[in-house]
Amino acid sequence: MKTHRIAAIPGDGIGPEVIGAGLEVLQAIAARDGNFQVEVTSFDWGSDYYRRHGVMMPADGLDRLRDLDAIYFGAVGDSAIPDHVTLWGLRLAICQGFDQYANVRPTRVLAGLRSPLRDCSPGELDWVIVRENSEGEYAGNGGRTHRGHPEEVATEVAIFTRSGIERIMRFAFAVAEARPRRHLTVVTKSNAQRHGMVLWDEVAAAVARSFPSVTWEKMLVDAMAARMVLQPAGIDTVVATNLHADILSDLAAALAGSIGVAPTANINPERRYPSMFEPIHGSAFDIVGKGIANPIGTFWTAVQMLEHLGEPAAASRLMTAIEAVTQAGIVTPDLGGTATTAQVKVAVCQAIAGRNQASQGEI
Ligand code: ATP
Repeated sequence: MKTHRIAAIPGDGIGPEVIGAGLEVLQAIAARDGNFQVEVTSFDWGSDYYRRHGVMMPADGLDRLRDLDAIYFGAVGDSAIPDHVTLWGLRLAICQGFDQYANVRPTRVLAGLRSPLRDCSPGELDWVIVRENSEGEYAGNGGRTHRGHPEEVATEVAIFTRSGIERIMRFAFAVAEARPRRHLTVVTKSNAQRHGMVLWDEVAAAVARSFPSVTWEKMLVDAMAARMVLQPAGIDTVVATNLHADILSDLAAALAGSIGVAPTANINPERRYPSMFEPIHGSAFDIVGKGIANPIGTFWTAVQMLEHLGEPAAASRLMTAIEAVTQAGIVTPDLGGTATTAQVKVAVCQAIAGRNQASQGEI
């Protein structure tokens, strides 16, 4: 039997609550499938680790993850530690260290859920946003000088490389090509950002020639935000820079019903390093410990992980189980329900096992 070796990094805030539920669901799907098993190694890295050791993860952290097959990540962020310390010390250290340059964010209105868009029927909002995850506005290039003085200067330099743009464009066109509509929107801001975004546009046009079956278009990021709200049905696959896609995908998650539903995968397409799978939400301090964190985004990213690990049947069975549960109305308060994290988890495990869904009141 195949063994998939997974690193679990629950991290901060509600991370441990949703990853704990996600690991149980993963074991349930492996047991149901019968052709593979999941071996989990957990790492207690994050803000509590930082309080004890002064770093978010040990110096050999990446080496300890390197040979594992995938990373299942919760959340990072702490009210007492600056975000740039927690983010760069753990999540971005892994993304950049393992060259996870393609960030894939599917968005869909799941069965039984409602979009806040008044006229949006479920089939109309079915997107995949591909985010460039290694350079652009979050390259970490810049600095501060004359600190504390009136003449203080801070620079934040976006870095766009031809090779970086080319590899994310190839990845995005391939994602679009594999979807039924074969349509890609290349998001840009080349009217105002005259250098990096113009190179982005040029490389997109060049890569498009290798994907003749994909129809593609360019769209300015501000117009794209409006289009996502006003004409969601025309959108299919989207590729955008690190910053633009960060913002657009949070909007997408909200339009699909809740940020708690949305998954993301940080992929190293060449598979030289393990890829990392996480819900898109953060630590959500306001609900920590209440047992009401929505675990669906964490379950959905397990679907992405199973696909990446070469288990499409298990991935599709898990997605079906998730939607059986949302369809039955067994959802947490952020989606208007009254179920707890544990109740959603139990319902998904039951659906995986093929048992009938109880309604929310019966669990
Ligand atoms: P970060 O800066 O790490 O992204 P944040 O607190 O600014 O953290 P989120 O953690 O994403 O942002 O939370 C934004 C809002 O969405 C909060 O009100 C939070 O309670 C809610 N939220 C986020 N994730 C979930 C979830 N899984 N279930 C229910 N509510 C959630």
